Amino acid sequence: MISRLKILFELQQLDDQLDELEELRGDLPDAVNSLVEKIDHIKKEVSEKEKEKKESLKKREENEEEIEKLKTSQKKFKAQLYQVRNNKEYDALTKEIDHTEEQITKLETENDSLADLSKRLTEEIETVTPQLEELKEDLQTKEAELKEIVKANEKEEAKLKAKRKDIESKTKKADYFAYMRIRKAKKGKAVVTIKRSACSGCHNIVPSQRQLEIRRNNKLFFCEYCGRILVSPEVAEFKE
Ligand SMILES: [Zn+2]
Repeated sequence: MISRLKILFELQQLDDQLDELEELRGDLPDAVNSLVEKIDHIKKEVSEKEKEKKESLKKREENEEEIEKLKTSQKKFKAQLYQVRNNKEYDALTKEIDHTEEQITKLETENDSLADLSKRLTEEIETVTPQLEELKEDLQTKEAELKEIVKANEKEEAKLKAKRKDIESKTKKADYFAYMRIRKAKKGKAVVTIKRSACSGCHNIVPSQRQLEIRRNNKLFFCEYCGRILVSPEVAEFKE
């Protein structure tokens, strides 16, 4: 049983060391992630605006062509006005001319607002472009910093991780789950020792009868206040 406790204690020690390495990275990993997200978001926005601009330009060109066609037929109608033979023909032609005129005006108005839209989109893209560049530079710097920190501890981390894997394989499944659950809940420490008669996790006094029981090293004991696994000093003295 004592070896089962020692294994848990060693697991905790390895995780402590890994946590320390993680801490050296500070908020860099989070900062990098949030920058990547921001950049992706802006890039997506820009590309959507570019697409909208392209579509608006295409539509404007189509409208221009249509306007040209309408103007040509309008000219034809106007020429025909000189050759009408009666009022009925005259009215029909005038109606056609008016109708074409209406269509032309409608398309021209549409093109005006499309041009406004293009202009607005261009301005919006121009506004975020320097911002995007700034974020990219920031990301580069932070990524380089993080890489340096990771690289400096790469070997140590790999060694610790390999050791942890080995210890994990030696840990009873139920113990490992309990350990991981407490570790997650307590943000780090799941296995603690008794120091000056108190739980070193929450500093609450462990009753002396309980302390005696824990010293027997024959069972998993949990601190009744914080729920951490309590081990005896004998277990904690354990070195690889
Ligand atoms: Zn406690």
